[in-house]
Amino acid sequence: MSTLPQTGVSFVIPIYNEEGSLPELRRQLVAAGEKLGETFEIILIDDGSTDGSFPALKKMQAEDPRIKVIRLRKNFGQTAALSAGFDYARGEIVITLDADLQNDPADAAILVSKLREGYDIVSGWRQKRKDKFLTKRLPSKMANWLISRITRVRLRDYGCTLKAYRRDVLRSIKLYGEMHRFIPAIASQIGVAIAEVPVNHRPRLYGESKYKLTKSVRVFLDLLTVKFLLSYSTRPLQIFGLFGLISGGVGGVLALVLSYQRLFLKQSIANRPLLLLAILLMVIGFQFVSMGLLGEIMVRTYHEAVEKHIYAVREVLDSEPGAAL
Ligand code: UDP
Ligand code: MG
Repeated sequence: MSTLPQTGVSFVIPIYNEEGSLPELRRQLVAAGEKLGETFEIILIDDGSTDGSFPALKKMQAEDPRIKVIRLRKNFGQTAALSAGFDYARGEIVITLDADLQNDPADAAILVSKLREGYDIVSGWRQKRKDKFLTKRLPSKMANWLISRITRVRLRDYGCTLKAYRRDVLRSIKLYGEMHRFIPAIASQIGVAIAEVPVNHRPRLYGESKYKLTKSVRVFLDLLTVKFLLSYSTRPLQIFGLFGLISGGVGGVLALVLSYQRLFLKQSIANRPLLLLAILLMVIGFQFVSMGLLGEIMVRTYHEAVEKHIYAVREVLDSEPGAAL
């Protein structure tokens, strides 16, 4: 863990029909940024809003050069909006938060100071969450339990958008689906130091929540993807091959037993359900192994195509940069 140079903070905020909260959001963000005592920029991503958000953002941008606005062509979703913000962010530190003012921009100072202790990601923990119990807090409790069991990245509150990241960590990961809540888990793949600090949480004052309970299903499916990517994406044959060997092995043994009974004990096996099972297990086993092999080929193509390395570098110490070889 190395300490960070002081080279600025980027706030990244996804906005989808949040007209009502924008003036107050801007005031609180600027106040929080100025308090940090270092250069900062505010990146506001308009995720295809259909209310008056964009004109309001345009006006804000014209009045303050520290504000940048990215307007997406349509509503791509919170993860995509954040991802667009990450691509434009210039600060060494990136802080994400919701536009609805449920997160408190003033908490940025706590996150930044924690990050400077040497962490790569500092995640907010909404200790006293101001949301409805049945539709928000309960499903999120269950999701938190499941995510921490499955990804083994121990956080108390994965869903909190208020987080601070070192930008180079964000550079090395790609986001899809509803995956922004899994950034710490995905990043754990490259080895990161993660901390969690309690943050303020407030009730939504303007507009309404963009999510319904059905989001939980999508989050669960994304969790499956993340688990697979985390555990087996570089060695698919090891998981598929294992299933294949077990299945094929059991099927093979059954087939041998049946052959013995047919050939040496002269028993009829035509009416034995076990025969079907043996065949099924062997075919499935063969398919699993083939799938694993195909997976191996695809992993190689994938790594080549996105120029993704199978390692991640924290820093390079070289007294003559560029002079290697
Ligand atoms: N959001 C977005 N695109 C979407 C849905 C939401 O950019 O398709 C933004 C939204 O404007 C807000 C943040 O994501 O800034 C979180 O949304 P919301 O407050 O509705 O979620 P909740 O806090 O109710 O879970
Ligand atoms: Mg909210």
